[in-house]
Amino acid sequence: MTTATTRKILLLPGDGIGPEVMKPVADLLGALSSRKVLTVEVREGLIGGAAYDRTGHPLPPETVALALDSEAVLLAAVGGPRYDTLPYEHRPERALLGIREKLGAFANLRPARLFPQLSNASTLKPEVIAGLDLLVVRELTGGIYFGSPRGIVTENGVRVGINTERYSEPEIERIARVAFTVAKSRRSRVTSVDKANVLESSVLWREVVTRVGREFPGVVLDHMYVDNAAMQLVRNPGQFDVIVTGNLFGDILSDEASQLTGSIGMLASASVGGRTGLYEPIHGSAPDIAGKDLANPSAMFLSLAMLLDHSLGETGLARTLERAVETVLGEGVRTRDIAEPGSRVVGCREMGERITGAFWTLLDKGAAKQ
Ligand code: NAD
Repeated sequence: MTTATTRKILLLPGDGIGPEVMKPVADLLGALSSRKVLTVEVREGLIGGAAYDRTGHPLPPETVALALDSEAVLLAAVGGPRYDTLPYEHRPERALLGIREKLGAFANLRPARLFPQLSNASTLKPEVIAGLDLLVVRELTGGIYFGSPRGIVTENGVRVGINTERYSEPEIERIARVAFTVAKSRRSRVTSVDKANVLESSVLWREVVTRVGREFPGVVLDHMYVDNAAMQLVRNPGQFDVIVTGNLFGDILSDEASQLTGSIGMLASASVGGRTGLYEPIHGSAPDIAGKDLANPSAMFLSLAMLLDHSLGETGLARTLERAVETVLGEGVRTRDIAEPGSRVVGCREMGERITGAFWTLLDKGAAKQ
């Protein structure tokens, strides 16, 4: 698919394995552009420890300006032991919160999909996780992580810790719309997770999600209490398509869901809602394997697939890239983190080359059919 307009994409390799896993993805983007499959302008910026080393700040204003001037940002990972003793405002991780805030990203999309070739990597029985393909849509900028009053106060000589769960109707409406919209391009099911039997904020949440749901008659909506959702995720995760929930519940459930697949090097995420979408693997900078050509670049490729899909509307290219990852796994090729007896273990560089090769083969086959 060729687009006439140039789309600006910012790459932020960051720290640790970040530059290693970003390299093959940047090369693929460059090739997509030079082969005129996609008209993209790719720029690179500093973030995290790498930015701190060069500029004294983990999120320099130049990076923010480049991000705001882009249609999408692809971020690898930040952090490392070298920076762990820095004051909080200089820590690389601070840059993650900073960039999400600057981009106005209020919705976090976390797919948990089981590649059948990796079913042995999960701690659950293969028959329980067979066909697992769900997406957690987590509200990212509201709820108890941001509500006030908050703090630790002394009342009658006793210290009390206080946080406030708080959601306004517009906040619930906009996250619900994201969930219903994305469900339309999946299996058209939304499960809204709350604690409406105990919390007033959840009563409002349920009411507003139900109202927004009426705008999407083709999407089936059901509601589930968070305790039950946590249980159902390990009992029968195949029942879920899109789960939409608030910040706190989403934080916990998205981590639980991602662990169902058993492999951190395979999972991507998106933070959307503003004009510019942010796409990143869920893993960190993995300092233990950085610079050793051991990292799995799959999550980075799958993050690019999410970017192509959600920010550029290039669904066909996104699916082709996902299929390329699957094809390479199907050939028994693995990085060390997902290796199984009998598989051919390769490094980050070769894994990247193989995924890219499979992508072009699939794309050429698709083009030949048309
Ligand atoms: P981590 O995700 O970096 O690593 C956890 C384990 O998974 C390690 O054993 C690592 O080798 C392995 N791993 C991670 N990604 C891998 C990949 N692509 N291929 C193969 N193996 C992989 O988490 P951590 O060790 O808790 O944190 C390390 C640093 O990363 C810390 O500084 C932390 O603050 C930071 N961090 C950053 C992000 C982010 O940038 N979004 C997220 C989490 C942690």
